[in-house]
Amino acid sequence: MDCDILIIGGGPAGLAFARYFKDSNLRVVVLEKSPLETLQNPPYDGREIALTHRSREIMQNLGMWQRVPENEIYRLRDAKVFNGTSDYTLHFPQPSKARGGATDRLGNLISNHNIRRAAYEEAAQCDNVEIRCGVGVKLAESNQQEAKVTLENGEVLTARLLICADSRLSQTRRQLGISADMHDFGRTVFVFRTRHEISNQHTACECFFYGRTLALLPLEEHMTNCVITITNTKAHEISDLNPEMLAKEAEKMLNGRLGKMEVVSSVHSYPLIGVHAKRFYGVRCALIGDAAVGMHPVTAHGYNLGLESIDILAKLILKAVAQGKDIGNEDLLEMYSFKHQLHTRPLYHGTNAMVTFFTTDAAPVRLLRDATLRISNHLPPLKALISHQLTG
Ligand SMILES: Cc1cc2nc3c(=O)[nH]c(=O)nc-3n(C[C@H](O)[C@H](O)[C@H](O)COP(=O)(O)OP(=O)(O)OC[C@H]3O[C@@H](n4cnc5c(N)ncnc54)[C@H](O)[C@@H]3O)c2cc1C
Repeated sequence: MDCDILIIGGGPAGLAFARYFKDSNLRVVVLEKSPLETLQNPPYDGREIALTHRSREIMQNLGMWQRVPENEIYRLRDAKVFNGTSDYTLHFPQPSKARGGATDRLGNLISNHNIRRAAYEEAAQCDNVEIRCGVGVKLAESNQQEAKVTLENGEVLTARLLICADSRLSQTRRQLGISADMHDFGRTVFVFRTRHEISNQHTACECFFYGRTLALLPLEEHMTNCVITITNTKAHEISDLNPEMLAKEAEKMLNGRLGKMEVVSSVHSYPLIGVHAKRFYGVRCALIGDAAVGMHPVTAHGYNLGLESIDILAKLILKAVAQGKDIGNEDLLEMYSFKHQLHTRPLYHGTNAMVTFFTTDAAPVRLLRDATLRISNHLPPLKALISHQLTG
């Protein structure tokens, strides 16, 4: 065998997973198709990742949190949901100390490029982790004895366990015969940073307008990340705008709530496709991160679930090592899949149903959308449940 664990994909999930084995005797290889410079210095990609308290703990344990500059960890104090043109909001306040939430925030926001850099720096300093960049995996196979990958340059590598961390449209998941549910929302999301006159109060907002949605992620008090989703047939209405026109459009959508706005970053777009693998393992292989579950970003669960996936699987592997068991054994992988799916399935289907409901603009549904916000605001157990899901 060339190594114990072979990880396909050096994204934030694959690299954080590799870092878990720092103090073990396992030999880990990460295969990433992007060049080394991209891992060392990932470019800004418009994504601001809202992280739960649980994710912060995991990242702290892995040393990743400490690698992000303190002034680039943004406080998410509370969150509000708006429907249509109404000013009425469903409000998720910061957890009160009386309820054991000894914190001044609902969660934190860190830019994706900072998470990627932190994950790379942590994995790169592990003596037992090798990161191979600049060449992609062409084929992944596995049998009862070993997992095997063929690289695009023809080289073949074998391992006791293969991990697919190659994103939601994972090629290797397909090659290993693991099927997945996919949901194409037929929409595109545009993300960019703005500076503005009026304070955002460190409050995240999700505005379900008619035809479009706009999410606001507070960074600094006068700097906010805007996330506009729009149906693909109208995506040009956003992509055709220059920065000045885009800022005006955001001001208009917000009815001036943040005052005069200015776009201060590059604009990035992503297709909205949700993916949930039917199971998270196969013979001597497992899926983590977006390769297991690729969420709609509206509930900000994607990387939070990715961190949970690596936490569950890595702990099971380390336990197997301590007991002298095979790290690729089926019981272990099945246990991982079972444990993680208990959480991911309801969140994935719940999020998709919520998005469909709040983006349906037929007149009776508009009224129902409004009623849903009002009812949720007045049902503390329901609100607490949603809040708990948001904060982890
Ligand atoms: C607009 C937007 C906002 C988001 N907001 C949030 C949020 O607020 N909170 C949250 O928790 N999540 C959020 N997410 C989700 C989060 O960004 C993802 O869950 C996370 O980045 C996935 O990490 P990953 O490592 O699984 O996949 P990726 O980051 O996609 O990494 C996969 C890696 O695999 C490599 N690769 C692919 N194929 C191969 C191959 N054949 N050979 C070798 N390498 C390969 C790729 O080059 C890449 O580096 C958001 C996503 C978007 C799009």
